[in-house]
Amino acid sequence: MEERGSPDGDLARSLEQGPEGPETPIQVVLRVRPMSAAELRRGQQSVLHCSGTRTLQVSPPGGGPEVAFRFGAVLDAARTQEDVFRACGVRRLGELALRGFSCTVFTFGQTGSGKTYTLTGPPPQGEGVPVPPSLAGIMQRTFAWLLDRVQHLGAPVTLRASYLEIYNEQVRDLLSLGSPRPLPVRWNKTRGFYVEQLRVVEFGSLEALMELLQTGLSRRRSSAHTLNQASSRSHALLTLYISRQTAQQMPSVDPGEPPVGGKLCFVDLAGSEKVAATGSRGELMLEANSINRSLLALGHCISLLLDPQRKQSHIPFRDSKLTKLLADSLGGRGVTLMVACVSPSAQCLPETLSTLRYASRAQRVTTRPQAPKSPVAKQPQRLETEMLQLQEENRRLQFQLDQMDCKASGLSGARVAWAQRNLYGMLQEFMLENERLRKEKSQLQNSRDLARNEQRILAQQVHALERRLLSACYHHQQGPGLTPPCPCLMAPAPPCHALPPLYSCPCCHICPLCRVPLAHWACLPGEHHLPQVLDPEASGGRPPSARPPPWAPPCSPGSAKCPRERSHSDWTQTRVLAEMLTEEEVVPSAPPLPVRPPKTSPGLRGGAGVPNLAQRLEALRDQIGSSLRRGRSQPPCSEGARSPGQVLPPH
Ligand code: ADP
Ligand code: MG
Repeated sequence: MEERGSPDGDLARSLEQGPEGPETPIQVVLRVRPMSAAELRRGQQSVLHCSGTRTLQVSPPGGGPEVAFRFGAVLDAARTQEDVFRACGVRRLGELALRGFSCTVFTFGQTGSGKTYTLTGPPPQGEGVPVPPSLAGIMQRTFAWLLDRVQHLGAPVTLRASYLEIYNEQVRDLLSLGSPRPLPVRWNKTRGFYVEQLRVVEFGSLEALMELLQTGLSRRRSSAHTLNQASSRSHALLTLYISRQTAQQMPSVDPGEPPVGGKLCFVDLAGSEKVAATGSRGELMLEANSINRSLLALGHCISLLLDPQRKQSHIPFRDSKLTKLLADSLGGRGVTLMVACVSPSAQCLPETLSTLRYASRAQRVTTRPQAPKSPVAKQPQRLETEMLQLQEENRRLQFQLDQMDCKASGLSGARVAWAQRNLYGMLQEFMLENERLRKEKSQLQNSRDLARNEQRILAQQVHALERRLLSACYHHQQGPGLTPPCPCLMAPAPPCHALPPLYSCPCCHICPLCRVPLAHWACLPGEHHLPQVLDPEASGGRPPSARPPPWAPPCSPGSAKCPRERSHSDWTQTRVLAEMLTEEEVVPSAPPLPVRPPKTSPGLRGGAGVPNLAQRLEALRDQIGSSLRRGRSQPPCSEGARSPGQVLPPH
């Protein structure tokens, strides 16, 4: 029915220039209710006649001058609830609310003129009995339209609702969990006037919203009087908060505040009434006075808003709770639609004329519609910078995670998945593994030290046996009567005296080659050298042993030669033999890979040279044994017929 009156088009055109568009007048739609059965019974006449879709003619009884009023749309008594919904322009307000504007629809008129009926349909016939769909008012129809619109938007939208009434100048929460208590109305720069601690309920379906509406309606104060059996005794404000998460509109960060975004507020005003006409007494009269006072304040504000110099003048919005809460709708940044309701009865003509004049003037009140800016949207530059930083950080973390994935590829799939989920957990796991490896390393070091000790002992034994072998060979070469040279001679020639002492033995105090005083390093424990053998002075005066042992010193009692006076070949042979043995000295190091794993204890894993030493030890024992056997069985050969290579059997 938009063709019969299209405030939608006007409003859309006036806002085409954008959110910060020009001043927009309050849209006013007039609704004329049908004559009630009681009025008809009393034989009353209708004094209102529609002329076209936008003009109302008032014909006073008794032939007075006709008065015409022009509105955005005039909806006579023949119009259905659906017609009113389609023609009043509330869908345009819904669209604007979805775009972030603050929109208000309010009904205005005398008590019993059909304000509540227009907004929510006839009063409920019983507890929990819903209004028949055909009689549903603007609010229910807008709810259904909005929910449907939101579903087809594509962007996520959060919907919330609050519902309050102003009764006797006190704000009461109609959706409060307990019994309603007076709530304060406050003001701040960003929100303007607002009700503190008002419950804002999020909803996701039409059914949930309808339930909220029914809850509020059932808790709202109403009383019966002469003109209305279910007269609203309070102003009721139901507000829908629409939050669309776009770049400009973010949800409120503070959970205590309603979400930043569009608003669509439905205001059902209590009607002005003549106390004499309604017959109100006692509490009803107090309510009527309170209602009238707040409506008077509203009228006063509208009058001042019409003043061309109003920007300089003070608008007394603070005079009542109603004007405080409608301040933004009337003179601020909101978009407002007024549905003026009138009775056609001649009996109500004075109030009807008052309402018509009032509504006509309201049409000239303008607002500057402006989408509310969230605190976040006020700093787009800062936000953009922050977003870039977060994106960069995200990229960096993703890269690190990928790298950790590669490193952890050796782990089982389950562990990798776990580590991906929890980097901290992964770090802990690596720390535990490090600790385990540290312990293993320490055990290996202990094993290595043990093996080295064993190797050193074996090396000492090998040296000792080599020296014994040398001594045995020498003894074998020289014959039973000759004594072997001092074991000092086995030392490498230069610097022979630098060798470390093994045992303290007095037999070799001076190196026979370089004549440097020596500590003995080659004597085996338990063996006793004869000190006079190497000491020329001592050898002269002392008697020789009756039967020298095989290791007896080189100076025999019958020999006139001291060791240093021997022939060159003697020394050469001895030195060659010593060098050969020295070259065989065992140095702890990693052995070549064995063909067959050596049978060593697990604790000797680091003792790589031990098998070689054991073999050498065994070979030396064999050599000593064979040398001794040869020495016993064969006569000594002449010195010149032997070569150093014959001294030791090849390894
Ligand atoms: P108000 O809220 O302005 O005081 P109501 O909406 O309560 O008035 O209406 C008063 C009475 O008139 C109610 O019984 C209601 O059903 C009836 N009424 C109002 N408007 C209409 C209408 N357009 N069609 C039928 N009945 C209506
Ligand atoms: Mg009402």
